[in-house]
Amino acid sequence: MTDVATGEATELLQQLIRNKCVNDGTPDSGNEDRQVATLGSYLDLPGAEVQSFAKRDGRGNLVLRIEGTDKKAPTLLLMGHTDVVPANASGWQRDPFGGELVDGEIWGRGAVDMLNLTTTMAVAAKQLVREGFRPRGTLVYLAVADEENQGIYGAEFMTEKHWDAVGADHVISENGGVRSDLPTTTAGLKLNLTIAEKGTQWVNLRVKGVPGHGSAPYAADNAVVKAAQIVARVAAYAPPVRLHEIWRRYVAAMAFPPDLDRSFTDAERIDAVLPSLPGGVAKLVHASTRNTFSPNVLRGGTKTNVIADEALVEIDIRTLPDESRDDVRALLQDAIGDLWSHVELVSESDNVSTASSFDTPLKDVLDRVTRSLLPEAVLVPAMTVGATDNRFFRRKGAVAYGYGLMSPELPMSQFRSMFHGRDERVHVESLRLSTELWVRTAREFLA
Ligand SMILES: [Zn+2]
Repeated sequence: MTDVATGEATELLQQLIRNKCVNDGTPDSGNEDRQVATLGSYLDLPGAEVQSFAKRDGRGNLVLRIEGTDKKAPTLLLMGHTDVVPANASGWQRDPFGGELVDGEIWGRGAVDMLNLTTTMAVAAKQLVREGFRPRGTLVYLAVADEENQGIYGAEFMTEKHWDAVGADHVISENGGVRSDLPTTTAGLKLNLTIAEKGTQWVNLRVKGVPGHGSAPYAADNAVVKAAQIVARVAAYAPPVRLHEIWRRYVAAMAFPPDLDRSFTDAERIDAVLPSLPGGVAKLVHASTRNTFSPNVLRGGTKTNVIADEALVEIDIRTLPDESRDDVRALLQDAIGDLWSHVELVSESDNVSTASSFDTPLKDVLDRVTRSLLPEAVLVPAMTVGATDNRFFRRKGAVAYGYGLMSPELPMSQFRSMFHGRDERVHVESLRLSTELWVRTAREFLA
């Protein structure tokens, strides 16, 4: 890798951070057109055809294609999102939108989620265009809006309305390639290759009661009281542990010490080990081995002296692979018990979990290329418990992975704490590694 590319990546990332494309979930936030303008001028060079698409004014998406010479060869899409989540400057050591370079690290919201990858994918694409890359298979670079709020103006829109521009059978997006700092019994740098993600089944419930005077609550049918009981039941609910094949493969590849391995592969023992694990790890192990139910919103009542006739409860349910909406609803019903007859299901999303195989030609290429850059690396198949834009492509039949390369200086525990957290920053070395990863992967996979 030339220093030129790393320098370009540094400057581009700084600019994307400073563009401050904060997505707060409202349709008028994000303003990703600023990223489209920055990326568009960066990628403006002879031989590069850049297009932009928007479902809503201000919320653009950018596509650059390097057409392959053989229509039957695979297409590789490198996808990065351009929006970021809000950041409250008061908790930070540096300006979250300053894009400062300090001691080899670039600071700011989006530095690891995921402007770093969006940047390095663009730098790699530019390098390939410059060198006159003429692959058999097509390379597509896609910078999307709105990943942080369900991809409505981004990946969902692009896959539904512009498949001609972004259709691909192989996709790489966020995130992976981060060194595990869990104990292991074998040598090597264990890097996660994210092959699957949990599903989301967000549920809104309405709880009904009978209004009355707050001065005489005897035998009242109070919606707020019932909603509070429902929230407490859902929070206390222990859904069945299920050790999915992807979890088992992850555990096997990690080669944990025997006691940990035994706990992680036995549904009866796994919960007992959680309290002894570091906080972040315990959360991850817990969420990776069952459907989770988190009641996060509770609203109800109208006035202090009126018995509540209505309350609303919103529950964030995350589902394992191969679970149907009905299976999961049955669990929720089980959690709520006899109060189920007091609720009305207002809405229920149906975003099932998606997964790709670990055993693919793309994985083989990523494995080889990674080892050419980090000789100690071992790829470990992983499932993310959050959601990414990869789901839209997996549903279209693509193999989609979450990957990238982070400097081995950064362990997974630290990486995770920066995600949507404070003091988000990335090593320039990570930009160098990822840029080179994309260039070499495109050359090898599309040759
Ligand atoms: Zn992200």
